[in-house]
Amino acid sequence: MALRKITEEVAAQNSLEKAIDILVERIRSVTSADCCSLYLSDPFKKYLRLAATDGLSKNAVGKANMRIGEGLVGYVGQKQELLDLADAPSHPNFKYMPDLGEDEFFSFLGVPVINQGELLGVLVIQSRHKHGFNELEESFMVTLSAQIASIIASSNSLRENNDGNIKRCHGESGTGGIAIARAIVWQPTLSLEDVPVSRTEDRQMQLELFNQAIFQLQTEMDQATLEMQEMHKSQAANGYLSGYGNMLDDPTFQDEVASEIMDNGLLASSAIKVVTEKRLENFKLQGLKEKYFDVRDFAQVIISRLVHTTPSSVKIDHDQIILVVKNLPAAMVAELDRNNIAGFITVENATSSHTAILARDLGIPAVIGVPLNLNEVDGRVLIIDGHNNEVIIEPTQSVIDEYRQLVSQNREQADMFSAEKYAKNVTLDGVPLKIQLNAGLRHDESDDLPKQTDGIGLYRTEIAFMLSQTFPTEALQCEWYDKLLEQFKGYPVCMRTLDIGGDKGLSYLPIEEGNPALGWRGIRVTLDQPNLLKTQLRAMLLAHQKYGNLEIMIPMVSRLKEVLAFKKILAEAIAEIVAQTGKNLTSPRFGVMIEVPSIAYVLPEIAREVDFFSIGSNDLIQYLMAVDRSNAKVGRFFDPFNPAVIRCLKYLCDKSREFNKPISVCGEIAGSPLGAIMLLSLGYTCLSMNYSELSRVKYITRRVSFADLQNVGAKALSLESADEIHNLYSEYAANQGLSRIIALNEDVRLNNK
Ligand code: PEP
Ligand code: MG
Repeated sequence: MALRKITEEVAAQNSLEKAIDILVERIRSVTSADCCSLYLSDPFKKYLRLAATDGLSKNAVGKANMRIGEGLVGYVGQKQELLDLADAPSHPNFKYMPDLGEDEFFSFLGVPVINQGELLGVLVIQSRHKHGFNELEESFMVTLSAQIASIIASSNSLRENNDGNIKRCHGESGTGGIAIARAIVWQPTLSLEDVPVSRTEDRQMQLELFNQAIFQLQTEMDQATLEMQEMHKSQAANGYLSGYGNMLDDPTFQDEVASEIMDNGLLASSAIKVVTEKRLENFKLQGLKEKYFDVRDFAQVIISRLVHTTPSSVKIDHDQIILVVKNLPAAMVAELDRNNIAGFITVENATSSHTAILARDLGIPAVIGVPLNLNEVDGRVLIIDGHNNEVIIEPTQSVIDEYRQLVSQNREQADMFSAEKYAKNVTLDGVPLKIQLNAGLRHDESDDLPKQTDGIGLYRTEIAFMLSQTFPTEALQCEWYDKLLEQFKGYPVCMRTLDIGGDKGLSYLPIEEGNPALGWRGIRVTLDQPNLLKTQLRAMLLAHQKYGNLEIMIPMVSRLKEVLAFKKILAEAIAEIVAQTGKNLTSPRFGVMIEVPSIAYVLPEIAREVDFFSIGSNDLIQYLMAVDRSNAKVGRFFDPFNPAVIRCLKYLCDKSREFNKPISVCGEIAGSPLGAIMLLSLGYTCLSMNYSELSRVKYITRRVSFADLQNVGAKALSLESADEIHNLYSEYAANQGLSRIIALNEDVRLNNK
């Protein structure tokens, strides 16, 4: 309980200084320690500097430094292990620091603060007695240091990048360019416990916001009550009133909240939390269960209004806003109202998650996986720099002007790419390429789109399913597929059967699993639900019967058996359509996605059964490197330039050629400038990507030599590290005069160090 309270309180502060002062005070008061101190690493990781203390000399804060390895604190930092001593001065590493004022202390317990393998600091408690600390205190300190590590890391990233007045925060990846707007923090689910206790600089405004929220709720309730009474449901109306209504009419509640805001300087949401929790405590003691839940729900409703917890409350009448969320489900990206939302920032999603893919596809500026303190940015002006994976907080006018200039340079570059959008896809040395489109969301439905492509290399059918409320019928699906095949008449359209599971959920088929990436996904779901698969295939085939340009591929295949089982259902569906329509139907070309590494080892057997292969590099990297593509914490291990990844890609390209089966790549690497160059160097000639990347990749690949790239590829395959490989391709791109494009555009490679 103490642990959770401390972490919450620390997380709620909007400056690191305040947060760590509170941290050391609270630790000192809940342990038997007479002193608690936090030492933080300097940016060069050479020193540990006293950053906060409750018990040592305050004058030493910011001044007392220990080299890593020096003294007991430096020793804990070096070993990165807990150190618990009953008599600290007798330890060989003890170093007397006269300015610290620690003469009177004997017991010492130090724990390292580590985030993602990096030492951030050392947390220490000390006591005047020679009794050491007990096991409970040890585990308390270890747990607390693990919990505060991410809070310190996020503040560090803000501070390290704080040049002059510019506060920057680095994310894991970015998409879609630049957005400049005021931030709104959106918290889709909220419970009273999640509300931080934070303070405000503008008490009057917080009071007004609270009064407004109460007034708005009162109006809505009056309206609802009236409607219920009109429907002769007065009983229900009274019940409704007795819950929230009592609270709305309770002047002491409102007075107490107002006083927490005006006298104690709390944010309106925090004031409601504090006042409500006091009442809840009483109700609990008196066993007033119903009252307890009524009052808690009421508080949550009011707080929700204050912190924008419903999508509709994010709608802003005037300027556009930047949406800041902890985690944004993929389905919601497609529903974002582009008139209101200039871009979004997420704390937890990862680069290869479908959230990021959809944002890229739609060209929405976004930075994903930013370690931000949400309290710190709400209401502030932000810049999303999707190219450099950065968020800039409260930029000065000159910085805004600079970014506006960048926006115009990007526009110029986009015009330059666009001028060649219908050009032939051919490298400098005349090798023809296929540049295809990844689709799933409806773009423009004109004839112009197919002419910019060599067809659709991946149609993610699940996106339309994600936007539906129930499973779409065969007729509805047929309408969707018909439209697309007609629009792309004369061009191949490769539809992937329903790929749900993992980070793609359907509200009407919830899949609750501890490890969804390795769970019931893709072909595993559809083979278990053959009726769903059959309906989808029948809808696809009916459209194909009219236009003849359908290709079908299956996701998440891990064994031959799945391919055979699928082909059986496909054959049945074809026979049914022929019998039903009395018309001939040529079998669509059929392919398997290579996403699970096991397929590489049974390629000869699978090759016998298919017409083509398509590499889903997002999943292939996820499974090859054992790194959850949706988890920002491990995003730095998701590296397309890792030697294992490029060697695997090379193997797959060579083998499929040996079996005479065409192979393409439709994961995110195909659409990134350096990723596309890397794929060409490994022998790939067919790439499929999001719309926003098409003309850019076309422009780049028309300026590289396929033959020269084979030499670059051979060199890359002999290198040992991802850094060297990435540099090799960057150098090649620079030699071809493409460095400006590489610099101004997103790199599929993440912040790998
Ligand atoms: C992939 O895994 O690379 C792929 C294209 O499929 P998705 O991203 O939809 O899983
Ligand atoms: Mg995939």
